[in-house]
Amino acid sequence: MKERLEEIKIKGLEKIANVKNQTELEEVRKDLTGKKSELSEVLKSMSTLSNDEKKVIGMLTTEIKTVFENNLKVKEDKLIATTSVLEEPIDLTIPGKKVSEGALHPITQMRYDLNDAFLSLGFEVYSEDDISSEKYAFDNLNFSKDHPARQSMDTYWLEGTEDKEGAERLCLRPHLTGGSVRYLLKHGAPARFVYPGGVYRNETTDARHERAFDQYEALIVDKNISFSSGMVMIQAILEKVFGRKINTRMREGFFPFTEPGYEIDMECLVCGGKGCKVCNHNGWIEVMPGGVIHPNVLKSAGLDPDEWTGFYINIGLDRLVMMRYGVDDVRLFHSADLRFLKQFK
Ligand SMILES: [Zn+2]
Repeated sequence: MKERLEEIKIKGLEKIANVKNQTELEEVRKDLTGKKSELSEVLKSMSTLSNDEKKVIGMLTTEIKTVFENNLKVKEDKLIATTSVLEEPIDLTIPGKKVSEGALHPITQMRYDLNDAFLSLGFEVYSEDDISSEKYAFDNLNFSKDHPARQSMDTYWLEGTEDKEGAERLCLRPHLTGGSVRYLLKHGAPARFVYPGGVYRNETTDARHERAFDQYEALIVDKNISFSSGMVMIQAILEKVFGRKINTRMREGFFPFTEPGYEIDMECLVCGGKGCKVCNHNGWIEVMPGGVIHPNVLKSAGLDPDEWTGFYINIGLDRLVMMRYGVDDVRLFHSADLRFLKQFK
């Protein structure tokens, strides 16, 4: 009986070695280790044997079965690793599954378009870290020591730096303007650059206020920058973004880092200047505060205010997107509503 078992083993291993695919493998598995296999037959025929012989044959049978199982597993792994799914029958006429593709958020698209417009005018795109400090967010920008924006109700101060001052007192940047001084300190003047990014305010959120939002700021510093060159720049940018001439107007505005400061409005494109919900029924929409850089800010940046001057503009990205597409509710941009967002693909 031992010889028979030896024969079963040799034949079985040979069969496993000759297996070419998964179907054959399953057949051979059934043949070698199933209920009707030769090994099972040997076990069934043991009743005539002595107890000692039963023990020896039983052990040998189990041993061979284990050898088969191990070899089948190795063979199976090898087949899985080397068989391509394309070797199986394939029906090329079945319609494919549509891939659901994402798209850039309309605000991101606008940011890229502005980058293109500014790059074409010789500007550099600059970015800095989202964590800033009292020095860059306020001190350098001519904010008075008791300016309300410094208070924790507006600015997110970082834990552990409360009793520090200036560059050591850290915060999430409440606006982008701090980046302008950092850039000028590093690169000097003349300079023309934009610095888009996220800003953070510790505010109660409602329809018009978010705790984190996008801003887009530009600064040009040179020897002969006048108020009118700032306006020409704004006109050029709006024309590039909207593809046609856009009517603008300027009102007085106040920002610690400008002297003088302006609010720049553009004619509402949703209603064409007739008045609608978006423009508060007056035909104009405030899109960018800005102004001439304050002499104290130039000094913070290591520049002589008698020699250099400059012009800031801070562009409201969401307002421009509203104008571009005629969107009448700013909250839709942050709603994560795919029915809304899919329209901008
Ligand atoms: Zn309007």
